[in-house]
Amino acid sequence: MTLSISKRVRCLMRPAAAALEPYDAAFSQAHINLSANENDYPMPAAAREAIDAAIARTPTNRYPIAMADELREAIAAWHGVEKDQVIVGNGGDELLFNLILAFGGTDRPLLVLAPTFSVYELYAKLLETPVIRLWRDPDTFGVDEDRAVEAAGRANLIIVTTPNNPTGNLSSPEFVARLCDACPGIVLADEAYIEFAEKGSSSEGLLVAHDNLSVLRTLSKAYQFAGGRLGYALASADVIAALAAVRQPYSVSVLAQVAALAVIERRFEFQHSIDRIRQERQRTLLALASLSDMGLRVWPSSANFLLVRLPHAAEARVRLRDEFSILVRDLSDTPGLTDCLRITVGRPDENDAVIGAITTILRGESQ
Ligand SMILES: *Cc1c(COP(=O)(O)O)cnc(C)c1O
Repeated sequence: MTLSISKRVRCLMRPAAAALEPYDAAFSQAHINLSANENDYPMPAAAREAIDAAIARTPTNRYPIAMADELREAIAAWHGVEKDQVIVGNGGDELLFNLILAFGGTDRPLLVLAPTFSVYELYAKLLETPVIRLWRDPDTFGVDEDRAVEAAGRANLIIVTTPNNPTGNLSSPEFVARLCDACPGIVLADEAYIEFAEKGSSSEGLLVAHDNLSVLRTLSKAYQFAGGRLGYALASADVIAALAAVRQPYSVSVLAQVAALAVIERRFEFQHSIDRIRQERQRTLLALASLSDMGLRVWPSSANFLLVRLPHAAEARVRLRDEFSILVRDLSDTPGLTDCLRITVGRPDENDAVIGAITTILRGESQ
């Protein structure tokens, strides 16, 4: 059953909200889920034990410490910033919402480099924030940096996703710095996938010199904590204070706080699966690229997913699900992404399965 808003209720809603539909991610059971960019490698046993122990000793009768001081302290030490330069959220998504809540609004345009993460425009719509869309090159998904810097002057908020979801490519810290210099407002570097990128790709080093920069990170992707819901932002203390002013005080539960702290204390133990995913990304990229004579195109990626374009992608995605029990993300309806699917890089057996299934589909055979 899908959720739907009745006419009766819709006319009672705030107009910006009435224009939306419920987010009810078409989830179906499948053996292999490569649709949401999670890290499905086995969790390091010591990290899992530390999470369990931390949860077991945490009472739930008291409200959480609103600003999660201990967790922020650990994140600050990790990134070499002060505690008041860190804020945590119920996933990075909550911080994206709060960023637009605090810095958006009718006269405060948001600049995005499309195609990119759809959540930005969703929140902008809800929060009545105009969006300036600068389109990436339709062939390479590269950004026309000079045009972006020029547009930055007209934005109150810029989100640069690096690596970009769903195209997988990076924006350089040099470019992010140029945006910070040109923008009278706030520039967010959304680095949800940065752990999968080459070293030196992060813009966090720019925080010292650019007090309008914010860097978003999450434990959802590399750190196997999507279900735990913990994201954080780094920025100058006054920007963090603005985000703190609009947040729901208790959005990050005590259980999420202590579990996330355990993950962060053991973050080095996750490096093994991150490295494996990077190797598998290259192997899967090459295997898919070898299908180019059958009309498939795959783009290089610095994240834990690959963007592919293939004939009749929407149909292929349904066949992957129904005949092969493999879930991938269908982006074929997204402007600029005609016939594109996004495939998370999984474990070797999962990647073999998706390579095999796509080969079968492209050959016009049935399972
Ligand atoms: C996954 C993702 C996030 C944040 O995810 P959370 O699970 O809410 O932390 C942010 N930005 C991008 C581009 C993402 O893909």
